Amino acid sequence: KAKVEHNPKILSGPVLINSPNAALSKSLLSRYQNIVLFNEGDTRLIATYVWIDGTGEHIRCKDRTLNFYPRAPTELPVWNFDGSSTGQADRKNADTHLVPRTIYKDPFRQEPHILVMCDTYKYNMEPTETNHRVNCQAAYDKCTKEEPWFGIEQEYILLDADLRPFGWPPGGCPPPQGPYYCGVGANKVFARDLVQAHYLCCLYAGIPLAGTNAEAMPSQWEFQVGPAIGVKAADDLWMARFILHRLAEEFGIIVSFDPKPVEDWNGSGAHVNFSTKAMRAENGIVEIEKAIDKLSKVHMKHIKVYDPREGKDNERRLTGLHETASINDFTSGVANRSCSIRIPRKCAEESCGYLEDRRPASNCDPYAVIDALLRTCILNE
Ligand code: ADP
Ligand code: MN
Ligand code: MN
Ligand code: MN
Ligand code: MN
Repeated sequence: KAKVEHNPKILSGPVLINSPNAALSKSLLSRYQNIVLFNEGDTRLIATYVWIDGTGEHIRCKDRTLNFYPRAPTELPVWNFDGSSTGQADRKNADTHLVPRTIYKDPFRQEPHILVMCDTYKYNMEPTETNHRVNCQAAYDKCTKEEPWFGIEQEYILLDADLRPFGWPPGGCPPPQGPYYCGVGANKVFARDLVQAHYLCCLYAGIPLAGTNAEAMPSQWEFQVGPAIGVKAADDLWMARFILHRLAEEFGIIVSFDPKPVEDWNGSGAHVNFSTKAMRAENGIVEIEKAIDKLSKVHMKHIKVYDPREGKDNERRLTGLHETASINDFTSGVANRSCSIRIPRKCAEESCGYLEDRRPASNCDPYAVIDALLRTCILNE
């Protein structure tokens, strides 16, 4: 009998008996959704600035009113926040800067309101410790000729207010995994409404979701972003994560990107699919194999940046079981889901396409992962 062993890190979050959000009336807000906010002829909109906090894993946001519609992130004001409340600054010198990087349409307030993915800078405009976007952008700027594409598969699980997987029987766990992956039916998948709402919201926002599916554990799901070019893939993934947290808030459900939420069940990953122009061209398999060879020589260097705790989180997930390769070994293969790197069957058959790096954890920072892939496979650093 499988036991339910919860990862203590998940249990260390705020535990609620019931979700206060789930109990709120969902129709009250609609009474105010359509009130006219501003005089005719005025351009006024609300921008939600979104950023990664000092954990390198969790997301913060705050809103401001703008009196113009920005056509590019550079037109938006640099803003600031109290970095001492987010693990990003000392209390005595707390002002931390938010630099707008990518604009999305706001699916919650809708037109003309916007979501803005930002990165963070200290008082002296040096990047904060968890700002991995700067290096990622610098690497990408040197690789534009190679046209690197990234498609990321984001796995996650849903938790109830008591921080147990959503819908799991009290004190126990559901029958063993098997019927849940891509499942359909009320005893196999939970909270599809939330997943559907997330899909629509991401597409509305301008995030090209490639797809979504139910995963191997009940209340575990996946969505895929991309393929997108370079840094944009990581911006898109972070904003898709924000939208998921924000939506789940309304449902009274908690989203966890922890890579091994329950022992003896599949963990959560963020497989990163990667290609260059040469890999996608005829006989690109040669380029794919060259990249895999380079990756094989710096396995541990990559493991260190594939989760926010220098490999500690992935130690729990990359056990060699549950469709993973051991964290200690580098392996690759065609259509093999127990490898570090998989070449999809179709790519092997067509002799071109992309490779899948299966090592990044679900809570990885995609800026750091993309940065590492570009530097190893293209820049030969
Ligand atoms: P899996 O079979 O591993 O579950 P998925 O269908 O979930 O694969 O995800 C495949 C991902 O690969 C998607 O995010 C898609 O955007 C991405 N992808 C497809 N073609 C390419 C490519 N040429 N380069 C990079 N990523 C790609
Ligand atoms: Mn205040
Ligand atoms: Mn997938
Ligand atoms: Mn998956
Ligand atoms: Mn995959």
